[in-house]
Order: sequence, then structure tokens, then C-alpha cells
Amino acid sequence: MKRREFLKLAGALSVAGCAGMAPSKARVVVVGGGFGGATAAKYLRMWDPSIDVVLVERDAAFVSCPISNLVLGGFTGMQDISRGYDGLRRRGVSVVHDEVIAIDAARKTLRLARGGDMAYERLIVSPGIDFMLDDVQGYDAAMRSGAVLHAWKAGPQTVALRQKLQAMRDGSVYLLSIPLAPYRCPPGPYERVSMVAAYFKQAKPRSKVLVLDANPDVTSKGPLFKRAWSELYPGIIEYRGNARVVAVSAGSVRTEFDTVQADVLNVVPPHRAGDIAAKAGLITTNNRWCDVDWRTMESKAVKGVHVLGDATLSAPAMPKSASMANNHAKIAAAAIVELLHGRSPAAPKILNTCYSFVSEKEAIRVSSVHEWEPGQGALLPVKGAGGVSAARSEAEGTYAWNWARTIWADSLA
Ligand SMILES: Cc1cc2nc3c(=O)[nH]c(=O)nc-3n(C[C@H](O)[C@H](O)[C@H](O)COP(=O)(O)OP(=O)(O)OC[C@H]3O[C@@H](n4cnc5c(N)ncnc54)[C@H](O)[C@@H]3O)c2cc1C
Repeated sequence: MKRREFLKLAGALSVAGCAGMAPSKARVVVVGGGFGGATAAKYLRMWDPSIDVVLVERDAAFVSCPISNLVLGGFTGMQDISRGYDGLRRRGVSVVHDEVIAIDAARKTLRLARGGDMAYERLIVSPGIDFMLDDVQGYDAAMRSGAVLHAWKAGPQTVALRQKLQAMRDGSVYLLSIPLAPYRCPPGPYERVSMVAAYFKQAKPRSKVLVLDANPDVTSKGPLFKRAWSELYPGIIEYRGNARVVAVSAGSVRTEFDTVQADVLNVVPPHRAGDIAAKAGLITTNNRWCDVDWRTMESKAVKGVHVLGDATLSAPAMPKSASMANNHAKIAAAAIVELLHGRSPAAPKILNTCYSFVSEKEAIRVSSVHEWEPGQGALLPVKGAGGVSAARSEAEGTYAWNWARTIWADSLA
């Protein structure tokens, strides 16, 4: 065959492959290279190198939400919480920087924003969260003008919030509004309160942290956080429960009861599964979350598609955390390897640990174990396993940094 004819035929074959014919080698495509997606891509390659794994991630680099609150306090920098995707490439994952804009589960293809379709045998979707901006009147416009930030996806907003905290004069008020649970990282807002208060104590001691929490009380590690706040930051933090923010404008927010002024507005709106989950019909519950079979992480709505991480309808007492997303990824990777070989997946048992810094060096922890319960067909917390730290300590702070470095490496290196 002449070279020109060969190239023409090869081109036609690759287009046919892209248009939905089954790939010769099983191809698993992963949407989203955060904690869930990156881990799944890596472990699929590790556990079965014969699988062709493609990871589609819209951002050029991974930026970690865990530890990002320390950036706000000025205790670490963005470079410490950012990683590239070369570690996954070295493991044989094809990393494509693009955005998935549509999924056709019947044809087993997805569409990329820059053009072109991609075929898959099985699909993993780990898109994280998007915000329900309509729940807070005026949010979109206020965010676009820079009057309000969420900084609940680590990246440019983390940098912008740090700059606002640095620029504010001593004696100003920083306001953090927390949405009703479930939201990503139950203890995360209270860690943020602690980090900003620690910064104020050092640099702007007349400034205040005002917390408007839509929940009745601190939702995670409450006694440990409150003790740290009263002992380390007396007079700096004011906490108000049952204070749901319903509207925002430059310099103030409105709750169901009153209007509150502040100099820096950090309003975190309620969330739901990331946009692509909605577009792909994966959302099953309250127009927000994606229910899955916890033995495989396969969607209950769309066959052949596995959903991980924050986008899932959380199992009972399961937090939306990086720890969990990383574990979901291992359940899915193991199950997909078994399914592709015509075998049955094993029943999963997974562990969650969430550390929170309460000062530059001291941290507290909460852990839990979750096990498949065949009688109830659910993943349930194991009674008597896990718990919280007895007290805040520098030792827990060292473990927290070690946990972060370990999970970054486990997901990406
Ligand atoms: C301030 C803060 C502190 C936290 N601290 C902790 C902690 O200490 N411990 C802990 O365990 N958890 C912590 N978390 C929670 C943790 O960050 C999340 O639970 C975790 O990131 C969830 O992983 P994920 O894979 O579901 O989503 P993500 O990590 O958000 O990843 C989603 C990825 O998908 C990409 N994506 C989305 N849609 C598309 C698309 N259509 N096409 C291509 N790419 C797409 C996004 O760009 C993103 O990279 C914290 C969160 C916050 C906000």
C-alpha cells in the first residue's frame, strides 16, 4: 500500500474510532483531574496497564483546596498547593486539557469544547461542584464586579481573597457566610475562620471575623473549633448560627432577618454537582447530587458512567472531602478493572480523615470508616470506628501537612 493511501485509511479509522466504534483496547475516559478524577486515572493504569486511560481536565494545573486556607492566613503560598499533571503522564495516562461540554451515553462518546468527539468504553465523571448562584440574590453581578468572593475552588479567587485581606485596614470586618449543609468540606469554613483570625491577631489585631452560618451551629468538630477560637482569638471572632445570606451587594449582605455591613465579603453560595453532571443527566436528587451504586460508583441514572467525589449524593455521614473523593476513585478503578474482565467487584470499605488548622501550627482531626452493608444496599459508617482529636496540637499540624503531601502524591504522582 502506498504511503498516501495508508495515511488516508489510518485517518478514516481514527475518525471512526472517535465517532463511537469500540476502541480496540478498552478506553476509560475520566472527566475532571481533581482529587477524584486524577486518582482514578492513576489507579486504573496501575491496576491494569492494558487499559487506555484518557483524563480530560480544563485547567492547566491542579490547585488543592486542602491547605488553601493557610494561603489566606499567609502561612504558605500558592506554589505549595499547586501541582502539574506530568506524574500522571509518566504513568501512561493521556492528559487532555480541554472542557467536556456534552456526554452521549447511548453512543458512548463525549464532546470537547475545542471540537471533536471522543469514544469510551466506560466513563468516570468527577467534576466537583458548581454554585447555585440564584439562591443568593445579586451574587453573580457582585462576583463579576469583585465585590464578593467565594474562594471555595482553590485558584484565582484564593489569591484575590488573600490580597483583599492584606489590603484591608486594621479595624475592618471580614465576613464569611457558610451555606446550609451539605457543602464541600464540612470543617473547611471553620478552618478558614481560624486562619483569617490568626492573620488578624498577628497583623491587624483590631479587625474582626464575622461568621454568618446558615446552619444552626458549627457543623464539624464544633467544641474543638470553639475552644480554639475563645482561647487563641478572644474578641476577634463573632459567630452567628441560623444566619442564611439571601442577598449580596457591594459592602453588605442580607440575611433572612437583617442587613449586615462588612469590608471584605466572602460569601460561599450553596453548591450542586458540577455543570457537566447536570448536562449529562447524572443528577438524581434535589436537582443537586448524583446517586451511585457504592460498590462500583456507577451512576444510578446513566449506565456505564461512574461518578466520584463531591458530585455524588453523599452516603450517610459521609463528608464531601478530598479524602473521600480519593477513596471513591479507588472503588471505581477497582470495579472497572473487574467489570472489564467480566468479574464481580468486591465490597468496599473506605476511610475518611479531615484535618483542620486552628492556628499556624496546630490542627484538629475527624475520621470515620465506611463499609458496604449488603442488607441495606448502602455504604454505612462503621460504629465505634473513627472519632475526633482529644485536643488541638502541633503534632496534628505535622500530620495534617503529611496527609496533604501524601494525598497529592497518591492522586497525581
Ligand atoms: C477551603 C477548602 C478546604 C478543604 N480542605 C479539605 C481537607 O483538609 N481535607 C479534605 O479531605 N478535603 C478538603 N476540602 C474538600 C476537597 O477539596 C473536595 O472534597 C475535593 O476537591 C473533591 O474532589 P472532586 O474530584 O470531587 O472535585 P475537584 O477536586 O474540585 O475536581 C474537579 C475537577 O474537574 C474539573 N472539571 C469540572 N468540569 C469539567 C469539565 N466539564 N471538563 C473538564 N474538566 C472539568 C475541574 O477543573 C476540577 O479540576 C476542602 C475544600 C475547600 C473549599
